[in-house]
Amino acid sequence: MTQLNFSKFPLRPEILENLTNLGYKQMTPIQEQSLGPALKGQDILAQAKTGSGKTASFGLGLISNLKLDKKKPQALVLCPTRELADQVAKEIRRLARMLPNIKVLNLSGGTPIGPQIASLEHGAHCIVGTPGRIGDHLQRKTLQLNGVKTLVLDEADRMLDMGFLEVINKIVSYTPSYRQTMLYSATYPEDIVSLSSNLQKNPVIIKIAETGAQNDIEEHFYKTPLEKKDKLVNDILNHYTPESTVVFCNTKQQCQDLADYLSSKGYAAGAIHGDLDQYERDHVLTLFSNKSLSILVATDVAARGIDIDDLKAVINYDLARDPQVHIHRIGRTGRAGRKGLAFSLVTPKDSFRIENLSDLRKNEVLFDDIRSLVSKRGSQLIPSMTSIRINGGRKNKLRPADILGALTRNAKLSGSDVGKISIFDFHTVAAIKRHKVQQGIDALSDGKIKGRFFKVKTLSV
Ligand code: ADP
Ligand code: MG
Repeated sequence: MTQLNFSKFPLRPEILENLTNLGYKQMTPIQEQSLGPALKGQDILAQAKTGSGKTASFGLGLISNLKLDKKKPQALVLCPTRELADQVAKEIRRLARMLPNIKVLNLSGGTPIGPQIASLEHGAHCIVGTPGRIGDHLQRKTLQLNGVKTLVLDEADRMLDMGFLEVINKIVSYTPSYRQTMLYSATYPEDIVSLSSNLQKNPVIIKIAETGAQNDIEEHFYKTPLEKKDKLVNDILNHYTPESTVVFCNTKQQCQDLADYLSSKGYAAGAIHGDLDQYERDHVLTLFSNKSLSILVATDVAARGIDIDDLKAVINYDLARDPQVHIHRIGRTGRAGRKGLAFSLVTPKDSFRIENLSDLRKNEVLFDDIRSLVSKRGSQLIPSMTSIRINGGRKNKLRPADILGALTRNAKLSGSDVGKISIFDFHTVAAIKRHKVQQGIDALSDGKIKGRFFKVKTLSV
């Protein structure tokens, strides 16, 4: 495939310069195919998997078409979960950071509505959010959508799975009919086609083949009775000792039960699912993404679109009901030339799912013998990092550089001992090499950060 530079498209020079600074040297296939129609205001119906760069493919079009002198919502992006809305809002802000005074607002559930209403009164150009909360604002008349020129439905298939169809239709009815509508979906079921025909006009249809060809994945299937699944996960982990693993379960309860079981076996595991509150989900995700947890147990919805680099393994504790979802799940590993592992636990009741999967893969599923799993449990399963919590955040004007500076002062730690630093409104989580964490805490306790003393402690799930 030809790899092209963003300058092929009529993007403003400051946006192009920013892309270079962000290290976006070449376009991904979805960007190459959708940026042209996106900039021209055409409708787009696109299918591409997680991690293919969808956000910039609509985000660059969206920011280019904003009239910044009008502080009124002109673009609306709907996402299935707050985490995704958060990621999308951050990415749009990054893409737009050279444009003066642009306001991108995240309106999602899980946080109080009052501050959102206050922010809306100050005006915003671009709204990102979940259908539920956007619907609330419309009902309260705190959000005006009559100036929306661009509507994006991100992860549309997942929004339909979550039962958002009705509220999406309601939201759309508040937007002008001459708008541009871009619909992105990882899979392509019937209901997406009908959603598109209801909301779109002559969309440009873009499909980025999900053959798994770019992924290098070694896949294993095991037959197991239902009651031996937990033990089998344990055996797989002990045999393959992956540094980072996402395990998929189909229910919230199962996620929590499995995470509890794995923790009781000494693994650093955490669960994310819809029964946890926002703080708990952010907490677990932060620890997993900064390498303080080695196992994340999740439902499809909770894990949706979450961009985790460098995932070593995916385990399907429960097989996906839809074989396309299976392909999508395992496509999170084996990226960027690194080899990935995918494991699936198959109970007698799953024979139909296996048949569907074989049909989709055009390849029969072969099973491994459970007896081939021998324990090699070693240090790889222990997370390389430990997280610390600092009781100050964005609202205390702390930035990652301040934290890094404080950690490395007096040379107690070197830059390479410090991992990801995540700043929240009122606290910060920083990852530090596991055996250096005490030095990190000492360094911070020794002095002020930005002229203030902050409380510091280690974190776990
Ligand atoms: P998707 O929505 O398809 O799952 P994202 O838009 O979240 O994918 O992008 C995945 C990751 O790739 C993000 O970290 C993003 O910053 C990065 N990315 C996107 N486009 C490019 C590009 N052209 N070059 C380099 N990195 C990119
Ligand atoms: Mg995305």
